[in-house]
Amino acid sequence: MIIIMKPGAPEEAIQRVAHEIENKGLQVHLSHGHQVTIIGVVGDKSKLQGVNFEVSEGVDKVMSVTESYKLANRKFHPEDTIVTLGNTTIGPGTLTIMAGPCAIESREQLMETAFAVKKAGATLLRGGAYKPRTSPYSFQGLEEEGLRYMKEAREATGLSVICEVTSEHAIDTASKYVDMLQIGARNMQNFELLKAAGRSGIPILLKRGLSATIDEWLNAAEYIMSEGNHNVVLCERGIRTYETSTRNTLDISAVPVLRKRTHLPIIVDPSHATGVRDYVAPLSKAAIAAGADGLMIEVHPCPACALSDGPQSLTFEQFDSLTGELRPYAELSGRKF
Ligand code: PEP
Ligand code: MN
Repeated sequence: MIIIMKPGAPEEAIQRVAHEIENKGLQVHLSHGHQVTIIGVVGDKSKLQGVNFEVSEGVDKVMSVTESYKLANRKFHPEDTIVTLGNTTIGPGTLTIMAGPCAIESREQLMETAFAVKKAGATLLRGGAYKPRTSPYSFQGLEEEGLRYMKEAREATGLSVICEVTSEHAIDTASKYVDMLQIGARNMQNFELLKAAGRSGIPILLKRGLSATIDEWLNAAEYIMSEGNHNVVLCERGIRTYETSTRNTLDISAVPVLRKRTHLPIIVDPSHATGVRDYVAPLSKAAIAAGADGLMIEVHPCPACALSDGPQSLTFEQFDSLTGELRPYAELSGRKF
């Protein structure tokens, strides 16, 4: 349920309504917009039986929110959320480019990539230290050693850094080294992990599950937010379909659908969506045109030697020419990078 206050409703009226809700054992989520304040109610609505907020001072109207996700819902928070990481922001007006290797393989590989992607316009360095691989015999990541290199790369370049976490232990360790944690597609519905990510208080990039609906995805975001961490960014990375020409099928329509349903920023990952280097550029352009707030792109100093996802990784030169091509698209959509 949301309670929409009248424009300019006095603070005392807002607080009176909020206290009444809290006294009934429900949670209040306040969204102060330019014009109006919206009071979101989270919890068991039946506890409010017999209470008519419509007659309270300063209240304009009361609307029920039928979706099960509340905090992630645009009805609760009509303005776009901006997530801040160090001196960069993810949200309106900016095209955030996250780039780097699939996996951190060595200090040299990461440092070299960090400087190359920064030069080309990226503001976040990505790289996996805990790799969720399909086969247990594939490279599993450098774990804490990789995280140390990430921190070193951040200090050397000024880039913000993001790493995937696959367990609660990885959250505790990675929180000491990185600016943003990534929950990967395979863990999108690992609810204990989502709750722990919420408790970490660190900005979270939540990737869409391999076969998750948008509704399931927004409910996964709600798990993180319900623990008090509202700095959640969504990442569309392709879903499983019957098509085999690409690794996954990029659901480009997810961008406008999410934009309508949620206030959270939206990133598109054309690398994992396609698995094919040649398709990264056209889908990056499509993502910007559809309204994405940013891109996540895999880049490697030697894709042919990469320990994972070489076929979808761009060389430094390819990444540099891609960002050059993307600048007019970003400008057309009112974004800077
Ligand atoms: C990744 O970004 O490294 C990754 C494993 O992606 P996804 O979870 O989307 O497969
Ligand atoms: Mn990868």
